[in-house]
Amino acid sequence: MKLRIPATIAVFTLMLALAGFMKEQPKGFLKGNLHTHSYWSDGNTYPEEVARWYRDHGYQFLAVTDHNILQEGRKTKVVGKDTVVLKQLVEYRSEFEKQGVFLILNSEEISDASEKKPVHLNGFNLTRLVKPAGGATTGECTEANVKVIRTALENSGTPEWIMVNHPNFVWGLKTEDLARCGARFFEVFNGHPSVRNYGDSAHPSTEVMWDRANKWRIDNGVPLLLGTATDDAHQYDQYAVGKANPGRGWVMVRATELTPVALYQAMYSGDFFSSTGIELNDFTSSRKRLNIMIKEQPGVTYKTEFIGWVQGKDQPEILKTVAGVNASYKRTGKELFLRARITSSKPKANPFAVGDVEMAWTQPVQ
Ligand SMILES: [Zn+2]
Ligand SMILES: [Zn+2]
Repeated sequence: MKLRIPATIAVFTLMLALAGFMKEQPKGFLKGNLHTHSYWSDGNTYPEEVARWYRDHGYQFLAVTDHNILQEGRKTKVVGKDTVVLKQLVEYRSEFEKQGVFLILNSEEISDASEKKPVHLNGFNLTRLVKPAGGATTGECTEANVKVIRTALENSGTPEWIMVNHPNFVWGLKTEDLARCGARFFEVFNGHPSVRNYGDSAHPSTEVMWDRANKWRIDNGVPLLLGTATDDAHQYDQYAVGKANPGRGWVMVRATELTPVALYQAMYSGDFFSSTGIELNDFTSSRKRLNIMIKEQPGVTYKTEFIGWVQGKDQPEILKTVAGVNASYKRTGKELFLRARITSSKPKANPFAVGDVEMAWTQPVQ
């Protein structure tokens, strides 16, 4: 059969479009929550209801992170008058996962304690359960758990996908614990109402701990600590301030495809931002300049603060503040690291704390 050239092109274009549609390659940033609980530990709903919530609320990936357990094997839960057998991840994931659309990461919140303080870390993309490692101090315990998670991830393709959780929960971790533990990620924002992200008069905020930990890391030649925002969701029925609800904090990752390895590689390289509501159209970050391009929402104003640690200074500083949707900082070369924090005028719906507005954080660059 002979096709005229325009028809050939039309058919070819259609085939390309169909192939593209079938592959559903993601574009731009992929939205994910890295911290959730279900009936497999102390969450208050079925694991498949957790997956459903995130899939139906515009997320592309979700880490299921129950305490010291993977969603595999036989596990029962008393629900009302019934004892139910919980679905394993392998049993429910195919109902929700779709290539390029939604991905679930088999993960765990390794929940340890030391000095009567909680020491919790997430390991992502695990193939086997990790047992808490213990340790005489919170610092040793954090470091020991990083090591056992690292060992479990050795052949995963995501070898350093380890996050230290909610450092201010029960005032558990010290800045030096974050500095020295070796983990690449920590929660600068966690949506659980008990975690004290903002510190108090006697304790630094997670953001201040972040910058101080990174000063130590620079002085000691250790890769920088990157900051995530997560939900740590436990409650899926009643929605209110004071409940550990989903939808409070997430990461936006510029991965080339929706696979564990691609997500990990983008996150490890710092090509993501953390958000409680603000969206970025783009950001570019180098040793020369940091550019922020905010996706404008009607009636909302924005402030971008460029936060860095200048050589010879003894604390981090807000080096420049810019109003509007485009903000840029040209580096002098004296900044040991630089990052951006964006604050909007829009109140956060069902916030972590009363009075919160939508925010975003980019990652520090040396
Ligand atoms: Zn925890
Ligand atoms: Zn948790």
